[in-house]
Amino acid sequence: MINITFPDGSVRAYEKGVTGYEIAKGISPRLAEEVLAVAVKPAGDTTIGKGETRDLNRPIEEDCSITLLKWEDDEAKRVFWHSSSHLMAEALEDLFPGVKFGIGPAIENGFYYDVDLGSHQITDADFPKIEKRMLELAREKQDYTRIDVPKAEAMKHFEEKGDQYKCELISELEDGTITYYTNGHFTDLCRGPHLRNTDVIKAVKLTALAGAYWRGDETRGQLTRIYGITFPKKSMLDEYLVVLEEAKKRDHRKLGKEMELFTFSPRVGMGLPLWLPRGSVMRFELEKFLRKKQNEYGYLPVVTPHIGSKDLYVTSGHYAKYGKDSFQPIHTPQEGEEYMLKPMNCPHHCEIFRSAPRSYRDLPLRMAEFGTVYRYEQSGELHGLTRVRSFTQDDAHMFVTPDQLKGEFEKVIELILYVFKIFKFDKYTAQVSLRDPNNKSKYIGSDENWEKAENAIIEAAAEMGLKTVVEYGEAAFYGPKLDFMVKDAIGRKWQLGTIQVDYNLPERFQLEYTAADGSKQRPVMIHRAPFGSIERFTAVLLEHTGGHLPVWLSPDQVKVLPISEKYSDFAKKVCGLLNNSDIRASIDDRNETLGKRIREISLLRVPVLAIVGEKEVEQGTVSVRKEGADAGVMKVEEFVAWLKDQMAQELA
Ligand SMILES: [Zn+2]
Ligand SMILES: [Zn+2]
Repeated sequence: MINITFPDGSVRAYEKGVTGYEIAKGISPRLAEEVLAVAVKPAGDTTIGKGETRDLNRPIEEDCSITLLKWEDDEAKRVFWHSSSHLMAEALEDLFPGVKFGIGPAIENGFYYDVDLGSHQITDADFPKIEKRMLELAREKQDYTRIDVPKAEAMKHFEEKGDQYKCELISELEDGTITYYTNGHFTDLCRGPHLRNTDVIKAVKLTALAGAYWRGDETRGQLTRIYGITFPKKSMLDEYLVVLEEAKKRDHRKLGKEMELFTFSPRVGMGLPLWLPRGSVMRFELEKFLRKKQNEYGYLPVVTPHIGSKDLYVTSGHYAKYGKDSFQPIHTPQEGEEYMLKPMNCPHHCEIFRSAPRSYRDLPLRMAEFGTVYRYEQSGELHGLTRVRSFTQDDAHMFVTPDQLKGEFEKVIELILYVFKIFKFDKYTAQVSLRDPNNKSKYIGSDENWEKAENAIIEAAAEMGLKTVVEYGEAAFYGPKLDFMVKDAIGRKWQLGTIQVDYNLPERFQLEYTAADGSKQRPVMIHRAPFGSIERFTAVLLEHTGGHLPVWLSPDQVKVLPISEKYSDFAKKVCGLLNNSDIRASIDDRNETLGKRIREISLLRVPVLAIVGEKEVEQGTVSVRKEGADAGVMKVEEFVAWLKDQMAQELA
């Protein structure tokens, strides 16, 4: 008999060799239907996490703790989707005999398989028949069977099949036994884990095709990457497709173009965004918004250059850690003189701290900068404004005494929650990342300080009413942190806002302040960025709102539209009055129908339209529409007051 511990702490004895599926079935037949995989952690294993994810059919031979994994668990989704890649491979083998296979992993949403279809050119038009075949095979309730075979035998199998890709993968494995998995007539070299059988796969959608170099190497052949996603229920696929369709409409790269906010130029360089006038107006408004709030919290503005001497980053440790993967040093005519493009603002801020003697009375010292930084990202990783090589952080660093950590953390949480409220990110979660308690030696800073900081974060979060998930072992080596995840309007999750404690940089830069007793003490540093970066925040906000920004943030707040040229003069007068009241208004009196002009303006997502015709000219009024809905007829002065009131409400 073996003892198995469940997540609630209860322990039960089972026959040696019992499977996860049998355990689930013993608890309830319904659970057995829902469970997809099992996480197993041997008794005595003190590492963090649920343990190794395994096949439900695999015998459990030793005392351990287990977690039965269902669709809701990310690990189970990975097993589900990876198993689906095997199912797709089987279908491809049926439809395209002779197809060869590279790798087929699960990804964040679904799976892919890299395949070599020889001379056959696959297109989207092939998707329905592949999907149909996958569902037919799934209904056969094929078991995913794990088989151990000697390496030589595996090699022989794939040589006979003529699959050079699998042969290459096998040749790199250590000698001894390797694992195969079969489902139906398809055999794959794989370590697993997989589902019990194909029957749980109820809905299939192939989503995209792409070229992929074998092993990411441009000098090797190109394979076809087929992407797909599967679900245990048809209704889940339907929901997913609705979200996908909506996500396409909200893609910030599409909106950025339509709203004329930003662009990219290969001649300027990949991943280097160019902010257009309308985008720049929006960006300045974002900065203004945060600056105002930061002033209330006692932040002091600083400005630092876009480059720094290499020595600065050697001191900070960034050069040793990231130097090779960064933009390489800039050389000057002076022999041996080297500068780096700034990858982060913190080292510069540390030097500002050092520029004067500091006393405990100066702390907390809060330095804020909209600092543009440069990081080299692989070209394949670049994506719109979310992954760029140049971006501006809404950065700030607080230098505090250890006793001030908690209070300062509370203030930062308050600020981040204010940002979420104003931008209507109503659904968010927070994760506290702490040390791995079993591996304390890999972290810098004293035990006492770590405990203080970790408790400060946990208590500050609790006092601010934040619901948090605590993750052990997720802290950076230099300090614990608090990360925020928001859910956007269509349910997608984005990481926004980070607060990070740092013991490392104050040490490396030998930062000191004079304590009340006259002794020299080291301050603790907090890094924080509620937006993350202006670029990333803009992208997330556009996708969250579909481009329908609040009035205060819109580049064009009001478009004044005369019904015909006859009313242009009055429209100009209205526009002038609005501009004089600090409203960003412009006129569109092109010789086009009103309908056509409104349609074109809708692409720019101008929130408020002021329409003037004969009646309006006579009465000195405008007909107001906000976000497509009638907001009434107003005198021009009333309209200004109404606009100011709208903005005040948005910012309240
Ligand atoms: Zn597999
Ligand atoms: Zn920093």
